[in-house]
Amino acid sequence: MPQSAAATHRLGASSGAAARAAGLTKVYGQGETRVVALDSVTVEFGRGRFTAIMGPSGSGKSTLMHCMAGLDAISGGSARVGDTELSGLNDRQLTQLRREKIGFVFQAFNLLPTLNALENITLPMDIAGRTPDPEWLELIVGTVGLAGRLRHRPSQLSGGQQQRVAVARALAGRPEIVFADEPTGNLDSRSGAEVLGFLRDSVRELGQTVVMVTHDPVAASYADRVVFLADGRVTGDLTAPTPEAVLDRVRRFDAKGRTS
Ligand code: ADP
Repeated sequence: MPQSAAATHRLGASSGAAARAAGLTKVYGQGETRVVALDSVTVEFGRGRFTAIMGPSGSGKSTLMHCMAGLDAISGGSARVGDTELSGLNDRQLTQLRREKIGFVFQAFNLLPTLNALENITLPMDIAGRTPDPEWLELIVGTVGLAGRLRHRPSQLSGGQQQRVAVARALAGRPEIVFADEPTGNLDSRSGAEVLGFLRDSVRELGQTVVMVTHDPVAASYADRVVFLADGRVTGDLTAPTPEAVLDRVRRFDAKGRTS
């Protein structure tokens, strides 16, 4: 990657929170089927940082991500992306927010089979009627190591390469924040490590903000910080995580859960 251009983009990143939840509550169903998926969650996702969200199955990780990304309506409290409060927005406004400010990476790569890699990368911007910044696009494509494969269709790419296309697509519009939901769930460990490395590079070298839901302590250790959830509540926080430290937290919480 051209270092000077990367440095310029890095400088563009400011400090503070890219997104924050305050007393965020999400309730599904009512009466006997009522489930409190998020119980007054307060958390900040730092700008220019890579944050992992961990917790047991059913702890509210996906719900938190979906609420913060404007994919699901919130029941109470506040969810903000940048300066925008999500709780007051209607469906049309939420769609616009997602298009302009948020990038997504899912476990399934969700690429269109009839489009080549480059067309897949720019598709969300094409739909939004935005023109990709060519210099930024080149930086991203270089960062995720796809420069020689832009004319390939998804079927001509490995799983790891397809997920790298999905990462480039999420970054193409220079979003305020990228949400990644188990991005390595469908990959072997080597391809998974590559994708995690590129997500980390997008933060460290390009100043992007990434929030990743994972249940894998090794994946979480690529992040700058891990937020732990259980039963819809934030139960802990770890900075500069190692896989061992993450695993230790998970085990300690499991042990507590069994004895309480
Ligand atoms: P995680 O991602 O940590 O596995 P989820 O956010 O998917 O947890 O789920 C949190 C809780 O909310 C669980 O009890 C789950 O069953 C419930 N839940 C999630 N989505 C829905 C939904 N659409 N309808 C009803 N309950 C839901």
